[in-house]
Amino acid sequence: MNTVAAYAATSATEPLTKTTITRRDVGPHDIRFDIHFAGICHSDIHTVRAEWGQPRYPVVPGHEIAGIVTEIGSAVTRFTIGDRVGVGCFVDSCRECDNCEEGLQQYCTGTGMTGTYGAVGRDGHPTQGGYSGGIVVDENYVLNIPPALALDAAAPLLCAGITTYSPLRHWNVGPDTRVGVIGLGGLGHMAVKLGAAMGADVTVLSQSLKKMEDGLSLGAKHYYATSDHDIFKNLRNSFDIILNTVSANLDLGRYLAMVDRDGVFVELGAPENPLVVPPFSIIGMRRSISGSMIGGIPETQEMLDFCAEHGIASEIEVIEPEYVNEAYERVIASDVRYRFVIDTESLRQG
Ligand code: NAP
Ligand code: ZN
Ligand code: ZN
Repeated sequence: MNTVAAYAATSATEPLTKTTITRRDVGPHDIRFDIHFAGICHSDIHTVRAEWGQPRYPVVPGHEIAGIVTEIGSAVTRFTIGDRVGVGCFVDSCRECDNCEEGLQQYCTGTGMTGTYGAVGRDGHPTQGGYSGGIVVDENYVLNIPPALALDAAAPLLCAGITTYSPLRHWNVGPDTRVGVIGLGGLGHMAVKLGAAMGADVTVLSQSLKKMEDGLSLGAKHYYATSDHDIFKNLRNSFDIILNTVSANLDLGRYLAMVDRDGVFVELGAPENPLVVPPFSIIGMRRSISGSMIGGIPETQEMLDFCAEHGIASEIEVIEPEYVNEAYERVIASDVRYRFVIDTESLRQG
């Protein structure tokens, strides 16, 4: 066993505080790595604030993890000490169901995916995430971070990157596909970069014009503020696909009307309350509404390699661990450009 410092939530209302956690011994198929950086995803906030139900406190959040291998198990074949690695939203799954066999571990129908935090691992212990100094993970659930990517800016790719890459690929986004991205936050800014790199005609739909210059320099061709009600009229039937990355509930009918005939509205955000879909907003133009959850291990590696090839990473603000509670408030206020990443160096000694 090995101890590392970590930041944990102990209730939905208390700030996260520094604590010590233990990581399991390295088994034959495990690797241990020092965590160097951990991104702050809005899902961390939904979880610790019990917006998705009561989590198992204490919770050490963090599922955008990047670091360097320090120990490998006797049967490990894919990694060696010193490798630059990443872990995303899950650290295990049943490995036997059709979805696991297809590399779609996020949709595991056996045990379900084992979340990087807030779940229970095969060893019967709760899983704890990346706001900590180190972690032990089965090598089959670990990604290679290509040399072209800096570890800090690569960390958010492990969730925000793959969550937007996967639906863009699934719905065959390519040159001139008209892609709308609602919300220019952690997921949204990656959707813009990745969509643009695939050649799409990307439009940002943000609450205000504050981030317009950024949106256009990230690769969007168009940018609109949803506070301007005229856009809902002017942009009717304008998109082949919309990715909704908003963490709060929206008046969906108005956004669905922007999808063109036979287009798809893909829900990526996971707000606290159910989505309200007015029937005529999907009947009218034979529109589809769908969702998509992160991505499997092979596709996550493909995304990292794609990012390395296209010179894409996350736009980040690196913070010290003790800033995490303030960072949460700023994420909720949409005051982050575009991902907070915790430098976990001070957490490496337990
Ligand atoms: P984020 O950085 O906070 O970005 C969300 C963006 O939504 C904000 O930047 C803001 O963009 C917009 N927004 C926030 N509140 C709004 C409101 N009340 N009305 C309209 N727009 C609002 O969050 P994130 O980390 O990207 O995560 C976004 C959502 O995706 C969360 O619900 C998260 O849990 C979920 N998620 C899902 C998956 C998945 O697998 N499907 C994976 C990761 C995260 P503007 O300032 O531009 O308006
Ligand atoms: Zn996430
Ligand atoms: Zn499975």
